[in-house]
Amino acid sequence: MTTNFIREIIDKDLEANKNESRIHTRFPPEPNGYLHIGHAKAICISFGIAKDYKGLCNLRFDDTNPETENIEYVKSIQEDVKWLGFDWGNRLYFASDYFEKLYGYAVELINKEKAYVCDLNLEEIRKYRGTVKEPGKNSPYRNRTVDENLDLFSRMKKGEFENGSRVLRAKIDMASPNMLMRDPILYRIRKKSHYRTGDKWCIYPTYDFTHCLSDSIEGITHSLCTLEFDVHRPLYDRILNELGAHHPQQIEFARLNISHTILSKRKLLDLIKKKYVSGWDDPRMPTLGGLRRRGYTPESIRNFCDHIGVAKVDSIIDLVVLENSIREELNKKSQRVMAVLKPLKVVITNYPENKKEELDAINNPEDPSASTRKVPFSKELYIEEDDFREDPPKKFYRLSPGKEVRLRYAYFIKCEKVIKDKKTGKVTELHCTYDPATKGGNSPDGRKVKATLHWVSAQDAVSAEVRLYDTLFTKRDPEEAEEGKDFISNLNPNSLIVLQSCQLEPGLKNAKPGSRYQFERQGYFCVDSVDSSDKNLIFNRIVSLRDTWKKILLKK
Ligand code: ATP
Ligand code: MG
Repeated sequence: MTTNFIREIIDKDLEANKNESRIHTRFPPEPNGYLHIGHAKAICISFGIAKDYKGLCNLRFDDTNPETENIEYVKSIQEDVKWLGFDWGNRLYFASDYFEKLYGYAVELINKEKAYVCDLNLEEIRKYRGTVKEPGKNSPYRNRTVDENLDLFSRMKKGEFENGSRVLRAKIDMASPNMLMRDPILYRIRKKSHYRTGDKWCIYPTYDFTHCLSDSIEGITHSLCTLEFDVHRPLYDRILNELGAHHPQQIEFARLNISHTILSKRKLLDLIKKKYVSGWDDPRMPTLGGLRRRGYTPESIRNFCDHIGVAKVDSIIDLVVLENSIREELNKKSQRVMAVLKPLKVVITNYPENKKEELDAINNPEDPSASTRKVPFSKELYIEEDDFREDPPKKFYRLSPGKEVRLRYAYFIKCEKVIKDKKTGKVTELHCTYDPATKGGNSPDGRKVKATLHWVSAQDAVSAEVRLYDTLFTKRDPEEAEEGKDFISNLNPNSLIVLQSCQLEPGLKNAKPGSRYQFERQGYFCVDSVDSSDKNLIFNRIVSLRDTWKKILLKK
């Protein structure tokens, strides 16, 4: 277990026997979108700490906004937290279950003259609030009597007033340097059905009021959240103090940003609505659903979160770091197979017409227990189009006229003749000879070849669609757009390339959705769990084999 500043604080709290040495954290999503890799970091921190300290972690939906929230999001969030490997036991909570209690707390604040009903509209409230440089002005409704406030607030609840006509505000300080302390709104009228409470309520508590009190109600000891909440902390402390409620200790950490992608739910939803991606689980999305469909494992994401650690300063983590975590895992675990993505036919002219051999291929050189499998070899094969050049440049060691190469696990072959389409001039077929003495890929006379190619037997191969993904955005920081444009202008037009009729070794015929393989020399691939079927096999490229970017970055 690597330590970090949060764990150091907790260690001290335990030493001092704070909260009777209880450790109780929570993960508090708003059900207004799917979880993304940034949330994974927050989940790993809060659930991880509870696990390591033998404490508890709640899953609580901070569901105070009837406009944006729904049950689909609630379900997907639970599924994703479980998939990531965490368990909230019987501690699944909803802030909306506390609406009655929260209403009671609001009444208590009114009774203590710490809250009032304000009739300014939102525009006026904004004007009265002042600016960072200038103090705000008191609302003309600030000095209403307790009785008047109680009466108006209860009538707000009964639905007597229109949306936006009144709000309940905390009475704090309109001159506070912290804008959030300038009499923040606690309740709004919103005549809208809530996905859980239906039409029971037409006033809804604000996020800030709800969040701190929900943590308090649940007896949370350490409220771990992202840095932007540090300015909210004085407000939370204030509300809890006024009510004499239990104080969780809030600790802020840097949010995760990843290069070449965005982690704003609103913007991700924008990409879906405008059909730039196919949905929340599009394999290019940084959502957990997208990463899962792409082929990422929960372990690889947890390892990534461990690896990046917990800091107090925001930064952008290179996407390569995330890619490396799945590469590392699949290098150890995944079965190697041969798959030709852009097939070029090869006819072995001196190989008997009806002969077929079963050759031994190693399943995983990193894992001796994975042993070997048989792959068929016959007169007609496919190799990768890119592995042949009619006019090879210097240092091109793969196949070209008159040159000899090794076919992995098979034989040495030599290119004797190039067949082309008469009209287009495109190479359609190669005629090669093989050397029967080189079976298994070794020459008995010590003859050397400089390249080893992957291949498949044409009559045995399985056809499949392969989807190659690249980064969703071309810019490291997609928000850095030209003047007058937004992040959409930085979308990568080549983020998805679909290859049809790829030819794979026959063992992949029954590959199950979600199963992962290394296609030799190509990368790691996963059978798509949504679109793939027995009739139409579809693979997603998870990552290429090596991180080609490192080289690019070093060159710069
Ligand atoms: P919204 O803009 O809708 O509030 P959000 O990303 O804050 O979006 P929440 O559902 O409120 O979404 O997030 C739940 C928790 O996840 C919060 O405690 C938040 O601090 C944390 N979180 C959100 N984004 C990140 C991120 N990029 N890195 C780390 N933690 C994050
Ligand atoms: Mg939020």
